[in-house]
Amino acid sequence: MDAVPPDPAGFAARLLACPELPQPFRDGELAETLAVIARKLLEDNAKFNLTAITDETDVLYKHFLDSLLCAEAIRPELISRTEPGKPALRLLDVGSGAGFPALPIAAALPLLSVTALDSTAKKCRHMNDTASEASVSNFAAVTARAENLAHNTDYRESYDFVTARAVAHLPVLCELCLPFVAPGGLFVAMKGRSAPQEAAEAEHAMRTLGGVLEEIRPYSIPRDADPRFLLMIRKDSPAPALYPRHFSVISKNPL
Ligand code: SAM
Repeated sequence: MDAVPPDPAGFAARLLACPELPQPFRDGELAETLAVIARKLLEDNAKFNLTAITDETDVLYKHFLDSLLCAEAIRPELISRTEPGKPALRLLDVGSGAGFPALPIAAALPLLSVTALDSTAKKCRHMNDTASEASVSNFAAVTARAENLAHNTDYRESYDFVTARAVAHLPVLCELCLPFVAPGGLFVAMKGRSAPQEAAEAEHAMRTLGGVLEEIRPYSIPRDADPRFLLMIRKDSPAPALYPRHFSVISKNPL
């Protein structure tokens, strides 16, 4: 699919027909919301480059199903920790790009308050416009660099969940993401086949930043032979104030 999906209802029906779609997300209204997000992605992609994935089936599996499988990994803890009358739990997605996994997570988990972070203003504009068009009200995108925003006290150690997909090698990613996670919270890094190797390489980074690897959870999506993994990293103590360092330092000398 190179342009706008001709039939958002068709996109919704195809999503609902996916056997891999987690049961809690088998909902017609949610599927229609996700179809609006898909249509907007392809509309805006024709105007400015947002994603290299433009085939409808690839968009369905690699952007939407993949993001929903991440949402499903978060859902049990979200439900068990959500208390009536208390503020919503908060999720930050670092380096969201066109909105993945942040937008599908926000649509699928309305109990969460979702912030998407990206350093590119046009991507954040696209995400905010999409959320308002799709009536996803528990979502906001912020333009900033992670390594700067993580030193702002409104953001530092204030998220129950942090996610990231396709942003950086894990030792670098841990430095960008773990300072945002509140002690007791969870960082979920979405990774491909290199996940076990990256986890081993990031052991020192995790330890330094107060993270502990809880689980490497394998999963797969249709039409992709490559294994995928969710690295579930628990924050068990605060990150030292020094981190994250300037990006040039992080990338030249990763933890
Ligand atoms: N997560 C999306 C996905 O999987 O489709 C986008 C992945 S894209 C390859 C990486 C995104 O991370 C880009 O949009 C880029 O602008 C953003 N990014 C990279 N480094 C960043 C940083 N230090 N702070 C904020 N955003 C960053």
